[in-house]
Amino acid sequence: MHGICSCARSKSKSHIRVNRMKRDKRDQANVSRRNFIKTTATGVGAAALAGLGVEAAQAEARPARWDKEADVIIIGAGATGLPAAIQAAEGGASVILIEANTDVGGHAILSGGNIALGGGTSRQKKYGVVDSPDLLFSDLTDWSVIEPNGFPDYRYNDKEVIRAFADESAKTYEWLVEHGVTFVEKAPDTLGGHACGNSAPRESHSAPLAFPLVQNGGPVPADKAATTSSGVGLIRPLEAAARKLGVQILLRHKMTGIVRENPNSGRVLGISASSQGKTLNIRARKGVIIGTGGHSSNVNFRRIFDPRLTEEYQVAGEPYSFQDGSGEIAAMSIGASLWGAFNQTGEFGQNVTKAGWIGCQYGYVNLSWQPDSPIFAQARATGLSVKDYQDAILVNIAGQRFYDETASQFPANNYNSIKSYVPRSYLNAANIKYDPSNFINAALAGTGDTTPGGGPIWAIFDADAVKREGWKVTAPYVDYAQGYFFSADSIAELAAKIANKFQKKPMPPTALEDTVTRYNSFVDAGKDADFGKSAPKYKIQTAPFYAAWATPVIHDTRSGLRINAKCQVVDMNGEIIPGLYCGGESAGGFSLHGLARCAVQGRIAGRAAAAETVKG
Ligand SMILES: Cc1cc2nc3c(=O)[nH]c(=O)nc-3n(C[C@H](O)[C@H](O)[C@H](O)COP(=O)(O)OP(=O)(O)OC[C@H]3O[C@@H](n4cnc5c(N)ncnc54)[C@H](O)[C@@H]3O)c2cc1C
Repeated sequence: MHGICSCARSKSKSHIRVNRMKRDKRDQANVSRRNFIKTTATGVGAAALAGLGVEAAQAEARPARWDKEADVIIIGAGATGLPAAIQAAEGGASVILIEANTDVGGHAILSGGNIALGGGTSRQKKYGVVDSPDLLFSDLTDWSVIEPNGFPDYRYNDKEVIRAFADESAKTYEWLVEHGVTFVEKAPDTLGGHACGNSAPRESHSAPLAFPLVQNGGPVPADKAATTSSGVGLIRPLEAAARKLGVQILLRHKMTGIVRENPNSGRVLGISASSQGKTLNIRARKGVIIGTGGHSSNVNFRRIFDPRLTEEYQVAGEPYSFQDGSGEIAAMSIGASLWGAFNQTGEFGQNVTKAGWIGCQYGYVNLSWQPDSPIFAQARATGLSVKDYQDAILVNIAGQRFYDETASQFPANNYNSIKSYVPRSYLNAANIKYDPSNFINAALAGTGDTTPGGGPIWAIFDADAVKREGWKVTAPYVDYAQGYFFSADSIAELAAKIANKFQKKPMPPTALEDTVTRYNSFVDAGKDADFGKSAPKYKIQTAPFYAAWATPVIHDTRSGLRINAKCQVVDMNGEIIPGLYCGGESAGGFSLHGLARCAVQGRIAGRAAAAETVKG
């Protein structure tokens, strides 16, 4: 007995020593990190950090008083935050969900509602699809799969994070159904195949039912309510379920900082938030969950990963929902690490897209703003959809063409486009047809001078093209008022008119004239000698002439905070930050686009936070 005790004592002594050494090491790292923040924030780096909202991201000191409290505080009411709230409430926790916007939903409510949950869902079984968590895990960690441009989709995924996703994926599908989400009645398909694995169809679609869409202010026609796919059909039922469970949803409340016992150690105690000019401190008795949805709208943050992505680029989801990186920044200011950064810069399918709607500021291809939308005043124009890029040329800030206009964005390795796919076979790379499509890289390259981004891209066309496309070149289709659409009676006059906050220098009229003259000569010759556009068809020759905003659009955030299988946030020393969780686009280690990982990780985080036992 005595021997056991003394053994235990000596063990605990050595534990103390190891822990002390660990703590000393951690403190050294933390001190140097604090110094780094201090130095950069006060010295040369201050300007660079200003756009990151670094003031708001400082670790918050423990407040003198808490204005509100609950067991679990969730930041962001989107695809991650709502499932997290429901799961935490069902785990017996009291929950406050704060949302910066005037309504819930974030990017998710605007989304297409295509949800890639697999691993053996009841829908997969019903339609005879064979799948399992192991197969899903194997797919999403298959090093050998590449996109047609050579970028690997799954190679840089974190296996711990993917295993947790694979194990909870099918369960999350059933859970969504139990919580009121209606899926379109059809077999799972392969729409998102390149991101969801190549061994089984896994995509299901949430039906919008009678819920109004944010983008057009009304529901889809009744005959399509159960057969189309829309994010509103995911978000509104989850919002209702959360409210029914007593989750307090505080709209117009923006998290401005996370409170930790000490700046870089101890538990997370709560958050600070601002609401209509007031600051309030909200205590989390068990945990704080970050579901703020990534950083695609934060120019300085996104440029950490890709310096080319300067302020002129559009972001899918704006102007309803801005991904400002506040969750990541607040967590980093209390020591959290970023993770899986390659996935952010990988050139996958829709990561950065061509503008889908031109002549308006917000023209992501799958999001068309209509005049009855409650936020149409911010969107200002619906934009014009281009049926055939034979009808326009695209030019950069200097009025020069840069690529074949008919080319598309980054290629995607669609389901089974690797013939024949054999898991983890070295032959997969050899069996995919190489597609060198480089439209986006050419657009982002700009004029080759020292300007960091590519600058604006403009579609240039004439009155004949307007007729062929059937466009209406008036408000509310195009945005003359804010400088996203121009017309003139000559090409030189058109170039001289082009001006908005992103066109940092005038477009030289002679440059645009030369570009159009040269392009017209390619039409005569039947051959594009500069960029290989296939048989250019139409001259740009009939006044009036038009210039429409067509700058590329950033879609996703595919890297973020380091998390473990329980969605606990991990610090720069590889240690868990007690009481802090994260999921969805703010979390790293997973290159899957969209809703599925958000819903799964929201559930995991909500369950784990509610189960925390905290002393005192
Ligand atoms: C137009 C469009 C179509 C899409 N279509 C699909 C699709 O069909 N399938 C698919 O899988 N994915 C799709 N996506 C992607 C998908 O919507 C997102 O990946 C997903 O919504 C991200 O979930 P999230 O919880 O991380 O963030 P979000 O759903 O964006 O939610 C984040 C929420 O946090 C709030 N927030 C942010 N910062 C703060 C703060 N400091 N304080 C308080 N609140 C804050 C935001 O306002 C927002 O409401 C689409 C995206 C867009 C924009």
